[in-house]
Amino acid sequence: MGIDATTADSIVEDLSGTRKQRRLSKGICICGHGANRHKRNTQGQIICQVNIRYCHCHKFRGVITASTLNPFARVSDGNANQHALIRGIVALMESGGTFNWIDGAYICASCGVTDAVYPVIIDGEGRPAEPNKDILFDRYDILLCQQCDATLQTTGRLPKNE
Ligand SMILES: [Zn+2]
Ligand SMILES: [Zn+2]
Ligand SMILES: [Zn+2]
Repeated sequence: MGIDATTADSIVEDLSGTRKQRRLSKGICICGHGANRHKRNTQGQIICQVNIRYCHCHKFRGVITASTLNPFARVSDGNANQHALIRGIVALMESGGTFNWIDGAYICASCGVTDAVYPVIIDGEGRPAEPNKDILFDRYDILLCQQCDATLQTTGRLPKNE
């Protein structure tokens, strides 16, 4: 007795289905890309690669789960609507997909409000930063509310909250 072709096919389908489920359940990183794009390089650093471009993300941090990962292959050209996460969400919704924020993810990293936050790029010193394909290790994505983002962009520093 062996496994006939039909059984083998459905096993393969089940396996890829499970793999797909697992990929989906990890969600989308704040950088706008799925966990499968984050890989360890030979120096042991996590590198996020989208097609032929590298993303500045160096640690997977899931913020949303989505019905499909396919739209999450955009790059960041800036904050908010120019950020890969928002671009991915927009493309997802245009294609009829759905997403959910992971519990506790939708919060301003500076003041803690949980309303109308969006991704903003900063450098290691907490200053506003532009995405740059040649600078991979001094860029971080955070979620900020509009007020904290405005303070960051005008003073060059994240607001201090006591
Ligand atoms: Zn990432
Ligand atoms: Zn990324
Ligand atoms: Zn805030």
